[in-house]
Amino acid sequence: LMKAEVESVSSDNTVTSGTNGNVQVVVRVRPPSNREKDQGYIKCVGVDSVSHSVTLNYRPQPRTFTFDYVADEVVSQEEIFAAVGKPITDACLQGYHCCLIAYGQTGAGKTFTMEGPDPESNSGNSPGFAAQSKANAKRHEKRGLIPRILEYIFQKMSSEKSQSFKDVEFVVKCSYLQIYNEQVSDLLDPASLNLTIHEDAKSGMYVEGLQEVVVSTAEATYGVFRRGSENRHVGMTAMNMESSRSHSVFTVVVESQRRNEGGVMNRRTSRFYLVDLAGSERQKHSESAGIRLKEAGSINKSLSALGNVIKALVDISEGKIRHVPYRDSKLTFLLKDALGGNSKCTLIANVSPAEKNIDETLSTLKFAQRAKLIHNTAVVNEDMFGNPAVMGEEIRRLRLALAALR
Ligand code: ADP
Ligand code: MG
Repeated sequence: LMKAEVESVSSDNTVTSGTNGNVQVVVRVRPPSNREKDQGYIKCVGVDSVSHSVTLNYRPQPRTFTFDYVADEVVSQEEIFAAVGKPITDACLQGYHCCLIAYGQTGAGKTFTMEGPDPESNSGNSPGFAAQSKANAKRHEKRGLIPRILEYIFQKMSSEKSQSFKDVEFVVKCSYLQIYNEQVSDLLDPASLNLTIHEDAKSGMYVEGLQEVVVSTAEATYGVFRRGSENRHVGMTAMNMESSRSHSVFTVVVESQRRNEGGVMNRRTSRFYLVDLAGSERQKHSESAGIRLKEAGSINKSLSALGNVIKALVDISEGKIRHVPYRDSKLTFLLKDALGGNSKCTLIANVSPAEKNIDETLSTLKFAQRAKLIHNTAVVNEDMFGNPAVMGEEIRRLRLALAALR
């Protein structure tokens, strides 16, 4: 009975951001590639969208994990946006800092999910927005979360502005950086290397000297994003670097100013981090020598620091520890507010369906499972018994179930 009630809550299939700072965790299984199909790949991952669970045919014992939302290979980009992108963008527009992170091994679908299919060598225009020809229409349909989120942000802003009785102004800015070998560089200004991350008591984390571009349409914002991605690609190729070893962070800042009924100005600023992480796979030693070995070391540093921060946030919510090691890597320091502060965070764990990747898939699912346990103190305070992390989640679910039944 309980289960049915909970399901009725999520029947609209959107990932509800918790009322507290919970990390929402989503798993997406990509379809097999043509090559995998040709080589007779064995599928080892099953998804049950009703119970939100993923089962890995691990031997000797299959492993099942439950998440906030799970998507198998037939789930479209549009559905992913509706379930995952829209709710977090709504939170951003309400004034929350937000963070959307794609995690997973190289080739699991992180960039496809965030951005869309690999850009083909067509005229160099923005593939997310050009939909003139048939081929372009197809690409348009496959555009990922970032272009859709940008469209949605501007659409919502203009519809709020068109309600003329509301006195409202918006300013949108964006920036785009990369972390490679623990060095932060500006993808919008390729000469800007090794930037420093600072913490400001008032405005939170910021990167000194990072270019911020003021934008006024979704197309222009996506154009800035594409330009940064192009710079990233060109820079990486020129230096013989491997882009799967770098983390990229596209940040959209939405500032709004509203006059409320009493005539008082109300200002809000929200930052939305859109993060495409480096591949989570462990480096095989035979593959990493010299420069690559250094890369492997520092990738592991930022990603393992992310794992440690997530673990620490869980332990803190259970009252076990007091310190979160944000400063251990550039990535965790930059995302400090987003991961543990008063912000909405969604992690999308991308996995391959193929048995040959089963170990990496298991490790991704375990990572994602841990992220799901993060709760902030607001939830813990409501609990009087049991494991606060688990009870808090249970109470939240039951409240939602109750609300749906009323
Ligand atoms: P990653 O960024 O994690 O290394 P990619 O996003 O580049 O992985 O995905 C690897 C390949 O699989 C790409 O060719 C991509 O277009 C394709 N792909 C990934 N996810 C999907 C999906 N859900 N549907 C169709 N193709 C996908
Ligand atoms: Mg990628």
